[in-house]
Amino acid sequence: MRSRDAAGHTVSHTAGLKTTPYWWEAARPQSTPEAPLPERVDVAIVGSGYCGLSAAIELSAAGRSVVVLDAGELGIGASTRSGGMVTGGQKFVVSGALKSHAPARQQRILEDAKASLDHIEDLIQRHSLDADYVRCGRLIIAWTPSHYARLQGWAKLLETYAPGTIELVPREHLRDEIGSERFFGGLLVKNYGGLHPAKYHRALRNLAHSSGANLVSSTPVLRIERGNGDHLVVTKRGRIAARSVFVATNGYSADAEPFLKSRVIGAASYIIATEPLPSDLARKLSPRGRMFSDTRRSLCYFRLSPDGTRVVFGGRATARELDEERAAAGLFGKMCEIWPELAGSRISHCWRGNFGMTYDHIPHMGTHDGVHYAVGCNGSGVTMMTYLGHQTALKILGRQNRPCAFDVDAFPKVPLAWARSWTVPTVTSYYLARDWIEGRLAAWSR
Ligand SMILES: Cc1cc2nc3c(=O)[nH]c(=O)nc-3n(C[C@H](O)[C@H](O)[C@H](O)COP(=O)(O)OP(=O)(O)OC[C@H]3O[C@@H](n4cnc5c(N)ncnc54)[C@H](O)[C@@H]3O)c2cc1C
Repeated sequence: MRSRDAAGHTVSHTAGLKTTPYWWEAARPQSTPEAPLPERVDVAIVGSGYCGLSAAIELSAAGRSVVVLDAGELGIGASTRSGGMVTGGQKFVVSGALKSHAPARQQRILEDAKASLDHIEDLIQRHSLDADYVRCGRLIIAWTPSHYARLQGWAKLLETYAPGTIELVPREHLRDEIGSERFFGGLLVKNYGGLHPAKYHRALRNLAHSSGANLVSSTPVLRIERGNGDHLVVTKRGRIAARSVFVATNGYSADAEPFLKSRVIGAASYIIATEPLPSDLARKLSPRGRMFSDTRRSLCYFRLSPDGTRVVFGGRATARELDEERAAAGLFGKMCEIWPELAGSRISHCWRGNFGMTYDHIPHMGTHDGVHYAVGCNGSGVTMMTYLGHQTALKILGRQNRPCAFDVDAFPKVPLAWARSWTVPTVTSYYLARDWIEGRLAAWSR
């Protein structure tokens, strides 16, 4: 990817591009030494992301014998690849997912979403987790004037569940929040935050290990054979009998649990990181160090790195899945549309990851044929999947005060899930086209 600078010299924006997450420079996913698998455990957990580890921490602390199995290195899934934005339910409002539910269920969903934020903050604080967590606030920014009107409606709903945390930022005050002329106002959620996703994963790994959980990498689970007493977890390296099994495979769910395959679809999202920027430029782009996302259907999410030196910018540039070099070029264009002063900057990293999409845009935990699962973050799972792992552990232990709002029997199949290779690009193309048209109309109206 090249362009010309002001002096007419050719500049390559991606020379030496790394296709692994920027976050891995500080904390890599982990391989464990190959050792015999345990013959029998109280709980076998499939998937070593935030969800699986969070369950392992609670269960091990309660004295249960636990094994966590991952097909790859520990943390190789979305959990060390995300934007690191910590939220508490805004996604359900913004995505329109709440609309199809009765008011009583809406209330329960938002209550549990708020509880998920309290839970992650408490977990990080109680165990002094080294995760660069900061409660810096999240600004949702309107791509068009009509989107700002929509933000005003969302603000009212969110304020009901988290009084005192919501602020509307009209266009004339946006400059205090973001150094960009592109937007038409914003909704600030003051108690949301950001963390370093790979450091957070490493901290959970360490906590799970010190609580007594057995963490095992490079051990794909092939199937789970149901039994009256123990279930049998069949892996590529042998079998484990387990009283309870918890599947926490989210956007990487495949054949191990066929029930999930048609209900949660892995959708790719891409992120770029710039090389370190001059400190005055970084401060100008994001004067208060907020987490940002915009209101496009195919939204972009962006932030400064925890050390305040780089822009980390995520989204989808095209409907098709791309290699990282081409994805970097697309995201670079989107980033410069927001911050034109980055046109001369270089991209050091571009990577991708899968998040789990469900038909109703709501995460689901539950039990199918005696096997527990929690999946379907719909792109917002740092807080939520940590919480659902914890809730599943409490359920296994029989210690829930009340059932979790995301634990309902109805878990709709994604229509045409078997044809995702063309349905996902078709829907994404539609979203990108609508975003483009609305963006052009909004630009003309300025
Ligand atoms: C690019 C990107 C950006 C994101 N940004 C944000 C953000 O800013 N804020 C936010 O809240 N959320 C974000 N998310 C979502 C968030 O990262 C996820 O919701 C969360 O990490 C999911 O955690 P998890 O434990 O459920 O799943 P994962 O971390 O994906 O873990 C699932 C694991 O299951 C393993 N697995 C799958 N099948 C098997 C098998 N058969 N046997 C053994 N192991 C198996 C996989 O190897 C994987 O390690 C983002 C996601 C992506 C991809």
